[in-house]
Parts: sequence; C-alpha cells; structure tokens
Amino acid sequence: AERIITTGMLKIVSAEFIKGAINSKHFPQIGIPEFAFFGRSNAGKSSLINMLVNRKNLVKTGSRPGMTREVNFFLVNRPASLNFNPKTKKFSGPAPKDMFVLTDLPGYGYAKLSGGMTLQIDKMLYEYCTNRPLLKTIFFLMDMRRAPTETEKESIGFFHGLNIEVVIVGTKADKIGKNDQIKAKNDWADFFNFDKDLIIISSAAKKTGRDNILSLIAKRI
Ligand code: GDP
Repeated sequence: AERIITTGMLKIVSAEFIKGAINSKHFPQIGIPEFAFFGRSNAGKSSLINMLVNRKNLVKTGSRPGMTREVNFFLVNRPASLNFNPKTKKFSGPAPKDMFVLTDLPGYGYAKLSGGMTLQIDKMLYEYCTNRPLLKTIFFLMDMRRAPTETEKESIGFFHGLNIEVVIVGTKADKIGKNDQIKAKNDWADFFNFDKDLIIISSAAKKTGRDNILSLIAKRI
C-alpha cells in the first residue's frame, strides 16, 4: 500500500527554464532525478506545470496545438548559491535532496500537421524515453471530460515497456462534478488496468491535486 505523506512535505522554492531541445543531442545531462509531463495538446499540461511550481507563466498556456515541438527542461529548487557548469556537467556543490528536473514533453495529436512532423516528435519522444537514466516517472495528463482511447493505452504500454513508471493525472476536474470525477477515476483504473493510487485528480484552476503530485515526487527523489 502507498504510504500517505502529509501535505507540504516537498516545498517548491524555485523553478527555472534550463533548455529547449528540438533534438536529443541537446538534452541536458544534469545528473539529478527527473519527472516528465506528457499529454495531448490542450490537455492542460502547461497550466498544471505552472500550478505545481507556483508560477503564472513558466510555461506558456493556451498555445496552438502543434506549437510546442521541443522537449523543455526546467530545474526546480536550485539554491541560489549552487551553480551548474554545462561544460563539466557538474554543480558547484552537493545537490540538495529536493532539487529535481521537470520536463515538458511535446504534446501529441497533430492531425493538422504533416506526417513528417509527427514522425520527428515520435523519434524525439523515443530518444527521450530511452536516454534519461534518472527519469523516475512520466505524468500522463488527460482531460477528465474525455473518454480514454486506445491511443492513450498504447502510449502507456510503450512507456511501461521501457520500464518507465506512469502516473495518470486527470486534468480540469473543476469542469465536472465530484461524482463524475470518482466515476472517471474508476473507469480509467479499469480501462488502463491501473492502480487507483497512480491516478490523480487535478485542477489547475482550483489548484487541486498539487499535493498528491508533489508527494509522489517526494517519494521518488
Ligand atoms: P496544454 O496544451 O496541454 O499545455 O494545455 P493548457 O495548459 O495550455 O490548457 C489548455 C486550455 O485548457 C486553456 O484554455 C486552459 O485555460 C484550460 N485549462 C487548463 N487547465 C484547466 C483547469 O484545471 N480547469 C479549467 N477549467 N481549464 C483549464
């Protein structure tokens, strides 16, 4: 059984953009635990990341589907006294336990774009998933109003096949009632054959689900 952790255990003190990579050669090697966020365009990924790190605009929200074709890396909780040297790939001192990398993965569902663009994204995602030894968890975001599809099931199967833990985050919970939230969580647990402890209900608008996500991160760093 999952251990219940009191809220506020992991505090977010700072978050900064490190790098946007259009190619796996540009992925930064930082050597600390990493957590990635994935979801189709408009799932609410940017809003959720901003909510998690207490920032209005660290990640731009409401961007047109297909606009983000980069993997964006953020460093969370770097103390001001600690510097990172990209050449030596070392910090100027010991990394504190609560410091981690947060990764914003490109959305999928680019029906309007050319096949070439979609392929490029798939390749980059594949390279990301196979080249991040300190990746702990992929948070898989899905709008709570939508019924899950085979595409999502396949994506989760793909991550699991690479031994990557997936946590499902139901977004925009404020758009539906409490009973529908519980029903969706149960339906998703059945559909994905998923442990309910690994399904989190969230709303960026109402700032719910934040403590659950941070507790999960705290347990893995
Ligand atoms: P992304 O494309 O996955 O990064 O999604 P965004 O974060 O840009 O959000 C897409 C749209 O959904 C925007 O219009 C947001 O304002 C809206 N949205 C995101 N999160 C929430 C939420 O928790 N509640 C509500 N009501 N709307 C949300």
